[in-house]
Amino acid sequence: MSHEDFPTENPSVVTCGLPYANGDLHIGHLRTYVGGDIYSRSLRTLGQQTAFVCGSDMHGTPVAVNAEKEGVTPEEFALRHHEKYKETFPKFEIEFDNYGQTHDETNTELTQEIVRTLEEEGYVYEKEIPVAYDPDADQWLPDRFVEGTCPYCGAHARGDECDEGCGRHLEPGEIEDPTSTLTGNPAEYRERQHKFFAVSDLQDYLQEFINRLEGTSNAQNQPRDWIEGELQDWCITRDMDWGIDYPGEEADELVLYVWVDAPIEYIASTKQYTENVGADVFDWEEAWKESGDIVHIIGRDIIQHHTVFWPAMLHAAGYVEPRAVMASGFITLNGKGFSTSRDRAVWADEYLDEGFHPDLLRYYLATNGGFQQDVDFSWSKFQERVNSELVGTVGNFLYRSLLFAYRNFEGTPDAPLSDEVRERIEEAIDEFQAGLNDYSIRKSGNAAVRLAQFGNEYIQRNEPWKLTDEDPEQAAQVIRDCVQIAKAVAVLFAPTAPGKMQELWTQIGEEGDVSDVGTDAALESPAANFDEPEALFEKIEDERVEDLNEKLAERVAEATDDDDSDEDTEDDDSMTESESVETELEPLADDRISFDDFLELDLRVGEILDAEGIDGADKLAKLTVDIGVEERQIVAGIKQLHDLDSLAGQKVIIVANLEKAELFGVESNGMLLAAGDEADILTTHGDAVPGTKVQ
Ligand SMILES: [Zn+2]
Repeated sequence: MSHEDFPTENPSVVTCGLPYANGDLHIGHLRTYVGGDIYSRSLRTLGQQTAFVCGSDMHGTPVAVNAEKEGVTPEEFALRHHEKYKETFPKFEIEFDNYGQTHDETNTELTQEIVRTLEEEGYVYEKEIPVAYDPDADQWLPDRFVEGTCPYCGAHARGDECDEGCGRHLEPGEIEDPTSTLTGNPAEYRERQHKFFAVSDLQDYLQEFINRLEGTSNAQNQPRDWIEGELQDWCITRDMDWGIDYPGEEADELVLYVWVDAPIEYIASTKQYTENVGADVFDWEEAWKESGDIVHIIGRDIIQHHTVFWPAMLHAAGYVEPRAVMASGFITLNGKGFSTSRDRAVWADEYLDEGFHPDLLRYYLATNGGFQQDVDFSWSKFQERVNSELVGTVGNFLYRSLLFAYRNFEGTPDAPLSDEVRERIEEAIDEFQAGLNDYSIRKSGNAAVRLAQFGNEYIQRNEPWKLTDEDPEQAAQVIRDCVQIAKAVAVLFAPTAPGKMQELWTQIGEEGDVSDVGTDAALESPAANFDEPEALFEKIEDERVEDLNEKLAERVAEATDDDDSDEDTEDDDSMTESESVETELEPLADDRISFDDFLELDLRVGEILDAEGIDGADKLAKLTVDIGVEERQIVAGIKQLHDLDSLAGQKVIIVANLEKAELFGVESNGMLLAAGDEADILTTHGDAVPGTKVQ
């Protein structure tokens, strides 16, 4: 990679995908915001100048559609949710330096200015296109006002996105068999003049850009097909009232497509930050126009927008390109998707009302899996992680060592730091830094937990309680080391658990805010005196978890009774939607088959040798599978659901005697078995060799 490691001399901007001002937040939504907050805090701890910004996405058709349902103006509707988000984020210690909204003056002006620049630079042209129209309502049907069939994969698609199928962005006019969501009537396509951004002119640029892009590997791999295939130009106007007016004469007629003004809020929000604190503290122009290290943290459903359209727009308008995109996996609840309409969710407010400290959830979300992996939340898993890691490892070390220090020395004993512990702390700092440069908040967060684990071993091995009488000097040495470890844990764990680490900081007699100190503080001498410590983390009891599980189950049952439509359209999706598509369990099949029928299936154990995406197909991957007797080429719809690079060596189960088929011009000779919409791949429990029959 061509970028220097963090910390660099440049100003850095960390952003989170904007939430649509359109619904309540549940803990699944929080994953990217917690991730962004931890990442930006960690960069600061490393000494990197950093702005952490975001804002509410006020525009777009979901807001307009829902406002219409409630009979209020879109602005009123969106502002209400915006205010709610602004209140909720700090409760989880997600502290943006600026939290704006896309409808404010700063973003409106900046968006219009950037569009004018794109025009001047020759990247905008007009074209007549078919646009869906509802003759009964006498209204154009942009984006979410129309539903129909995805022309690429045949799935049911809504507006500008094939959200239940291939995940592709859909241009106006592309949906087949369009229906109006206003009246439910079939929509007509009428010719209409619209503005286009010539993304295809920037193909060469984008091909180089994607090789420079850092972040999670999904963000670099997923867009390659688009960037290397035929790039579509992008319609940037809509026939609506709600949005930012197209600059110039067309102002009366057209607004800008929401995906033009939404990411520009990243810049607008940084600009507002500068206006608040002054350019000497943070200079938005230096960051966005000269040398900024820009890191976008998003849900993986909006990778295309952030790695194709957005950098194309930035480049064409003369702005700095993103340095990195971190795209998170989905989050599920007890193994299934969150569902707001069925009330199967743990709401952000509800979590806090239960009296849990936000740091526990932050720790869970940040370290339960790699950032791009899917994470499952359940109260039982939450309990287990809290009890074993936060209480058992971190809390236990801190409490026993600090209590011992307080009782025997009223604080930190007067002894030098040992080489062993100094080196171990240096190692933890390196690990913390390496985690950030690998864009892994799990790794950077775990650096502190592993250090606490070392602390437990160290105190156990040196048994200072035996030494106080026999060898007081040696006891002082061990305890001095332990207090230093505690101090280092506070510094390195503060980005993940800012509230709890501030408590620790105060407990060990340090002044000020632990979030303001750098990694150097981890090795600076601890305060000589401190008071009796208190346990930082509390065990979650089994009964508590049973209660919580029951509450959730009751609520889901009630909501399901109330909801007699089988439709589960989630209208609260946001730019960072971290939900998987709802998967209701299908009823069991009525018809029994004979054992002979079953034996007709030739199921075999295979081993994936190679997996690669198929050009032009968003979902499909081409697998080479060793099935003992031969190698098979199999096409499977797993491209966006798995990291293809990591599949080699994976044991799988395939149907070996399925008819051959051709998909996207690629022959598929067999079928890979996988469970559910997330394509959870079936594998073997033991070590059956490739070719073994499954029966
Ligand atoms: Zn599709």
